[in-house]
Amino acid sequence: MKGMAHALSPARDTATPPLDGRVTAHAPLAPYTWFRVGGPAETLYAPTDTAALAQAMRAWNGPVTPIGIGSNLLVRDGGIDGLVVRLGRGFSGLSVEGTRIRAGAAIPDAKLSQAAADAGLAGLEFLRGIPGTVGGAVRMNAGCHGTETRDRLVEATVVFRDGTTRTLSNADLGFAYRHSDLPDDAIVTEAVFEGTPDDPTAITTRMAELMTARETAQPVREKTGGSTFRNPQDDSAWKLIDAAGCRGLRVGGAQVSEKHCNFLINHGEATAADLETLGETVRDRVRATSGHDLHWEIKRIGRPA
Ligand SMILES: Cc1cc2nc3c(=O)[nH]c(=O)nc-3n(C[C@H](O)[C@H](O)[C@H](O)COP(=O)(O)OP(=O)(O)OC[C@H]3O[C@@H](n4cnc5c(N)ncnc54)[C@H](O)[C@@H]3O)c2cc1C
Repeated sequence: MKGMAHALSPARDTATPPLDGRVTAHAPLAPYTWFRVGGPAETLYAPTDTAALAQAMRAWNGPVTPIGIGSNLLVRDGGIDGLVVRLGRGFSGLSVEGTRIRAGAAIPDAKLSQAAADAGLAGLEFLRGIPGTVGGAVRMNAGCHGTETRDRLVEATVVFRDGTTRTLSNADLGFAYRHSDLPDDAIVTEAVFEGTPDDPTAITTRMAELMTARETAQPVREKTGGSTFRNPQDDSAWKLIDAAGCRGLRVGGAQVSEKHCNFLINHGEATAADLETLGETVRDRVRATSGHDLHWEIKRIGRPA
């Protein structure tokens, strides 16, 4: 029996320890991503608050993956092993403190941007059109129209894999273009941003202008993951993709957007494998035509089917 037990033992203890919050085994993740593709989470966890999350990090034996609202994610068809952490109501605080605004990591960027405008704080307009959460914005250093998260972030609170909770300054986060130095399994729970006093009406008008420009240029109503590839220095990914003849290119139910060819689209029946194969085909063609090696901006996570 001893030998049998050894043979059947998993590499790690996969029993779920008691976790404070909502825990769902084998939870489909496709509904939680903009692409609407991908396999299940082994265990999906929505912690009640930061203390519960820190305790879970200490108790969980295995990999941990945070997700926001999946606007920059391609979850592969085989799903994600371990604990997938999706922050919810316990991380939705929003408060104005002078010229600063404190936001829970689950707050949508658009809501933060609007709250700043209502409080007469300018500088966060760029977040109005980014369809992710505050946690995802910090992790990705999200940005557009010449402003990035790092330009307005004061500090962020982070729970690390060992359960320690630390507040990191802007400099500590090691921001670069669409990048922070945070480990993949560290979880942002809250962030503080600095605004500049301005007239709320003027801020709201600027936000509306940015939204109009975005809707004209991007397929924002499609099942997409935003910009697929990072812009190479001194060039635009979309121009290279267009020059490589990839506008409208299809693999299965996946297509390079006709409207903005750095966006991939799921027409409804695509798998994650279709989207990833399409992206790799685009990379090959761009390399062949221009010599540029495009790098994925979209985070591809999980196992193939
Ligand atoms: C139509 C469209 C337009 C877009 N336009 C822009 C744009 O103009 N500029 C831009 O920068 N991006 C853009 N994006 C991409 C995307 O919205 C941003 O990258 C956003 O910041 C991702 O946030 P999210 O909450 O959806 O994160 P997810 O997509 O769920 O995750 C992205 C990454 O962040 C990590 N993450 C998520 N939450 C946390 C957390 N709490 N703690 C730690 N890590 C976390 C994940 O592990 C993953 O690595 C666009 C996407 C779409 C679909």
